[in-house]
Amino acid sequence: MSAKIIDGNAIAEQMRAEIKAQAQELKAKHGVVPGLAVVLVGEDPASQVYVRMKGKACVEAEFFSDERKLPADTSEADLLKLVAKLNADPKIHGILVQLPLPKHIDESKVLLAVDPAKDVDGFHPVNVGKMMVGQPTFLPCTPHGVVQMLVRSGIKIPGKHVVIVGRSNIVGRPLMNMLSQKNDHANATVTCVHTRTKDMANFTRQADILIAAAGQPKMITADMVKPGVVVIDVGVNRVDDPTAKRGFRLVGDVDFEAVKEKASAISPVPGGVGPMTITMLLYNTIAATKAKLGI
Ligand code: NAP
Repeated sequence: MSAKIIDGNAIAEQMRAEIKAQAQELKAKHGVVPGLAVVLVGEDPASQVYVRMKGKACVEAEFFSDERKLPADTSEADLLKLVAKLNADPKIHGILVQLPLPKHIDESKVLLAVDPAKDVDGFHPVNVGKMMVGQPTFLPCTPHGVVQMLVRSGIKIPGKHVVIVGRSNIVGRPLMNMLSQKNDHANATVTCVHTRTKDMANFTRQADILIAAAGQPKMITADMVKPGVVVIDVGVNRVDDPTAKRGFRLVGDVDFEAVKEKASAISPVPGGVGPMTITMLLYNTIAATKAKLGI
């Protein structure tokens, strides 16, 4: 039997409508427009696309969008000055510095300079620490988007065995943390596998919920999952495709066509986790605006 498709576009659209309604309410009741500043240093083509998409999403949600594009040779000191200015700007409730930064800039120094109250990416160590101990904070956008996809698809997480493939600081590790918290949207038993795991398939086959975030095209094959598994595919990989207009197409970390015949639910790529990441950025910006207003 073919799996139910977990449609990230539809869930993101529903959440963005809720977020827009909240932005309208903040404006009507408090005269405040949520403001998001996105800082891009250099001309990395993928980063330019992400920044453009974030600006567009802000406008659609009726936020104030402040895009700052700096040349690739911007000094670390100048970037830190801009971050300090945005920290002090009352029109700005959230700040995102697009990564990766050029090699001559120390990324961790810049992330540490963002006011934790405006850190809507959830990457500041203060917010990472709060997440770790289960205190309210800005949760990092991609892993939070994954949790929302499960919850809003009616998939019960408590008591399930979740296996996460990948342990990066932006996806795998925060997911591990969030899903093992003691709350109704978590309470899972979590296993995390990576490149040093021996016999990875032995673990993936035990998963009730499998989350793939390795960046390896179609690495999760049908023989690596058990029947009825729920699969969330975070991977976004370019593979050559001479028939495609751009010469490539995007695929996930999961062999979608084969695995969907065994799974009970599965998210596609594209149209899965992708649209959720920016949605959760908007969600965090609303939270930052409300926190600033003390509501
Ligand atoms: P990353 O920093 O490269 O981390 C990849 C993780 O996967 C590492 O922990 C690595 O293990 C593990 N891994 C890689 N190959 C593996 C293999 N063959 N077997 C087992 N584990 C393996 O990547 P990331 O930033 O977390 O991103 C992961 C994927 O998600 C990428 O495709 C990325 O494009 C995508 N992504 C999508 C979104 C979105 O919005 N949809 C957002 C972020 C990322 P080691 O630690 O042992 O090296």
